[in-house]
Amino acid sequence: MMDRSGMMRQEMAEALRGFRLLLTSCRMAGMRDWPAPLTQPDPLPPEIGPAEPPVLSPEREGALAALAGKTVDCRHCRLHSGRLNVVFGEGSPRAKLAFVGEGPGFEEDQQGRPFVGRAGKLLDRMTKSLGLERADVYICNVVKCRPPENRTPSADEIDACSPFLFEQLEILKPRVICALGACAGQTLLASPSPVSRMRGKIHRWRGIPLVCTFHPAYLLRTPSQKAAAWQDLLEARRLLHRGDE
Ligand code: SF4
Repeated sequence: MMDRSGMMRQEMAEALRGFRLLLTSCRMAGMRDWPAPLTQPDPLPPEIGPAEPPVLSPEREGALAALAGKTVDCRHCRLHSGRLNVVFGEGSPRAKLAFVGEGPGFEEDQQGRPFVGRAGKLLDRMTKSLGLERADVYICNVVKCRPPENRTPSADEIDACSPFLFEQLEILKPRVICALGACAGQTLLASPSPVSRMRGKIHRWRGIPLVCTFHPAYLLRTPSQKAAAWQDLLEARRLLHRGDE
């Protein structure tokens, strides 16, 4: 008769086989859209959500609010001159998973919220595919003000703004960070490597496991890379479950 650990191993092997099949089918189909939420047959264990009540630790809530307050009138770099809103970030301060993107685009600047345009809709689907809702994760960017014409932030702009991001992540202390795109990965890892070289590995940012994947805006332009990004999200999910032992 199979013992409990044997059954767990078998279940994991079956789940893995399911993921591989899904990945293969996504590749074969060109993966025009994102996989359906992974709720069946592999639900998230209750300890990582999405069922946590939105109760905030007063200390963390206060620290995040104070940090957000510092950005509201920030003029540390030239990006302040063209912004309509500072886009600090949003989500659950108890999030186990934090997504970090590059910077706000037009829609984000208009609304003062991260990832609300087309790329944001895709990120929402990516999040749902992990069995999580947007409110279960935390979403922020390297720079908090929109670069003109959505250009990549310059090195001095990143240097000026990244301390806000670092403090934000220090307060949040997510279990896993997912860097979306080159700017986020390079800033967090202090590395000039392209995403293609940063992805596929587990990195660490100040002790927190970090995975890098493509930015959703890039995935909209290059749907052939969605299967690779899905692989990265599965790795992030595995880290949420089990850490990087
Ligand atoms: Fe300040 Fe960051 Fe905005 Fe630059 S991008 S003005 S550093 S909040």
